[in-house]
Amino acid sequence: MKATGKDVYRLADGRRVPYVTCWSAEKVLPGRIVRHPRRAGIAYPDEVRTDRDIERALWVRQGLGRGGGEPVMAGVHPLRQRQCMADNACQVCGHPAVLDQRGYVFLMRSPSGVPVREGERTVAPPVCAGCVPEAVRDCPPLARGFVAAHVGSYEFWGIAGIIHDPHTLSPLPHDVAEPLPQVAFEDPRFCWTLAARVVVSLRDVTPLSVEDLLSLCADQPPRTASPVDEALAAHPAFNAPLDDPLAGPQAEALLADAIFGPGTAQVIATRSGSSRAADHCSASTPEDIA
Ligand SMILES: [Zn+2]
Repeated sequence: MKATGKDVYRLADGRRVPYVTCWSAEKVLPGRIVRHPRRAGIAYPDEVRTDRDIERALWVRQGLGRGGGEPVMAGVHPLRQRQCMADNACQVCGHPAVLDQRGYVFLMRSPSGVPVREGERTVAPPVCAGCVPEAVRDCPPLARGFVAAHVGSYEFWGIAGIIHDPHTLSPLPHDVAEPLPQVAFEDPRFCWTLAARVVVSLRDVTPLSVEDLLSLCADQPPRTASPVDEALAAHPAFNAPLDDPLAGPQAEALLADAIFGPGTAQVIATRSGSSRAADHCSASTPEDIA
């Protein structure tokens, strides 16, 4: 499946590539796992501030370059997933997902149709009303059955990722059905887990039938570009030829700053060895492991 020309956010068949979807250019960056020098848990030897979240979870390193290469429709970018959860943003369009009235809509894969329960955990960010019809129609994971719920609020529960053996530091075997096991913040395995998703717990859950769902979302036009896309659309880096060696690193740096705040780009550029991008950023050195 190839993206179509300049409209890199749609597939050839017209389906939109969701905001959280991973692109083939967004490679997982090499990152050697070592034992933390001062406390239990794993670390990177060249760790920088953006390698951890506010809960001190160590995150997988993955390049940022939305629109680069081909969309990997089965893949989710860890940082955009985390951003959507933190910002209450729609996983399809990236806009705020809150409904006119209070709360959010969550869609969950469920071939058996078991309704969403109070406190249920998920790694799938909410979907805004305008994107619900499209998500229900086009989202491959929902094709074999889904359930929906109106959710008053949600809270961060933990992370999903790769759990490492405290003795050997090797990744522990996992259930094939759960490639990214979920680990609560207070779980002793938390500090040995390389995070790839935020896990949230749903509150004030009201299950929705398909009819209720579509009624709730009626007359809500789908949004197009995400706020980040809109902010960056006019930038030269995004209009440069794709073979321009500056375009990718510049786009990555700008996107990182737009999502995570000024200054993020310089650490990502330095970490990934992208010297051309670093030319456009002030020098940065890895911080001490916190
Ligand atoms: Zn949306």
